[in-house]
Amino acid sequence: MLKLSGKVVYKGIVVGPVALLKKDDQQVKRTKITDADAELARLGKAGEQAQAQLQKLYDKAVKEVGEASAAIFEVHQMMLEDDDYLDAIHNMIRTEMVNAEYAVAVTGDNFSEMFANMDDDYMKARAADVKDISNRLVRNLMGQEDVDLTDMEPSIIVADDLSPSETVQMDKKKILAFVTVHGSSNSHTAILARMMNIPALIGVPLNLDEVYTGMKAVVDGLNGEVIFDPSEEICAEAEVRVGEEQEKLKLLQTLKGKDNVTLFGKTIDIYANIGSVSDVGYVLENDAGGIGLFRSEFLYLGRDNFPTEEEQFQAYRQVVQMMAGKKVVIRTLDIGADKQVDYFNLGKEDNPAMGYRAIRICLKQPDIFKTQLRALFRAAMYGNLSIMYPMITSVEEVKKIYEVVAQVRAELDEQQIPYKVPEQGIMIETPAAVMVSDELAEIVDFFSIGTNDLTQYTLAVDRQNAKLDDFYNPHHKAILRMIQMVADNAHKCGKWVGICGELGADLELTEEFLRMGIDELSVAPSMVLKVRKAVREADV
Ligand code: PEP
Ligand code: MG
Repeated sequence: MLKLSGKVVYKGIVVGPVALLKKDDQQVKRTKITDADAELARLGKAGEQAQAQLQKLYDKAVKEVGEASAAIFEVHQMMLEDDDYLDAIHNMIRTEMVNAEYAVAVTGDNFSEMFANMDDDYMKARAADVKDISNRLVRNLMGQEDVDLTDMEPSIIVADDLSPSETVQMDKKKILAFVTVHGSSNSHTAILARMMNIPALIGVPLNLDEVYTGMKAVVDGLNGEVIFDPSEEICAEAEVRVGEEQEKLKLLQTLKGKDNVTLFGKTIDIYANIGSVSDVGYVLENDAGGIGLFRSEFLYLGRDNFPTEEEQFQAYRQVVQMMAGKKVVIRTLDIGADKQVDYFNLGKEDNPAMGYRAIRICLKQPDIFKTQLRALFRAAMYGNLSIMYPMITSVEEVKKIYEVVAQVRAELDEQQIPYKVPEQGIMIETPAAVMVSDELAEIVDFFSIGTNDLTQYTLAVDRQNAKLDDFYNPHHKAILRMIQMVADNAHKCGKWVGICGELGADLELTEEFLRMGIDELSVAPSMVLKVRKAVREADV
């Protein structure tokens, strides 16, 4: 039995099997070898194993998503046999007498860099594939398991850390809980855990070699503990508490269909945050009044190339249609910072959170932006859609956005494609936007306050840095005063104002938000009914 403590991201308790997820970017060490032939034989075996794994993935993908989408695994198989790639690895092993893992990792990095610098967009996108096959080879050489999450039974995901692109690929129905060694409570993986209503513990001082896939564990997100290989007594106790938690959740269900109204008749909209089309199920299940934040960048993650206009249009249309007339606020892509995508070729930055991200990419690379706007304007014909732009700092930026919007309109008009320019709002998540919110309110339709980034930028605390969790205080007077200021400035111009950062679901502040006059709170679907309860009990 192994009992460890961590920081709670989402409360709840589960008992189930572990699925151990090893990182893609393995720590590869350079070691000297004495027998190059033996090393080449090891490499050959790892290659054969990779071919078999890819064949399995291809067969499964053909059945599930069709031949076109499965083709990527064939491309990987071909790349694994590429003479230039293999020669480079073989040469390195023979001439430098180094271990195969190191030769593969270095060659993978070199080839990936080479592809990334090519002019042709298709070749550029292959950089991620070379990295992928090299990681697969290294994993096989190290004897690490290729965890197939698609085949697993519902499990507790245990990992060193999880990136948004890793979590986005998981089948959410099969995740019982997250337990990670690293990660901060404001990361997107934490946000995802809240959205899915699953217990999550981060910062657990775990040696991943001590646990294995299939091992039983109890994740106690109420006490911030995880117990691997628990005794029967502990399991039985946990099962009782699982039952109690379910009872509490059942009680919340009685609030479905009820109004978000205080004892004194004040109302507020409670919407939900989502990251993909499949999350709409959680929104409906929890009776949210709309979607206040669809993080559209998740459509761009976990893939090799940009989603096309058609793919995006289908996704947005599906969401607005499923919401059947209820408001759906789609945020334009917020790539960058912790949400990295290889094919964007953003390059390394010293300070990514303050770097080339979100609207900055859209204004600098309008082609990417226009494709998304076209898809959004077309989808607006099918329901109650609103658009919002992230990371705004000035009136000038909004004006530049409107210029791109005008170009997109002209193009769609000329092509006689039906569309509608919907309500357009902005996220208030930089102190600069707060300070000019009086002017911004005059030119946009609404504000949605992103307290996650607003806290990060106001308090100068990196939201990704777990060491700073104690300093990340969204209850800071500075933040609360900013929210009040933004709300007042919005209302002076007759515009509505919402909160879509995690603070919106903070039940300690629900009354205060109502007093401030906030019109909408957009929260994780799992929090909708809890916030409704707090509103109905509020003395405002
Ligand atoms: C925010 O910053 O509060 C927000 C809602 O956006 P994200 O968490 O996606 O950065
Ligand atoms: Mg943000």
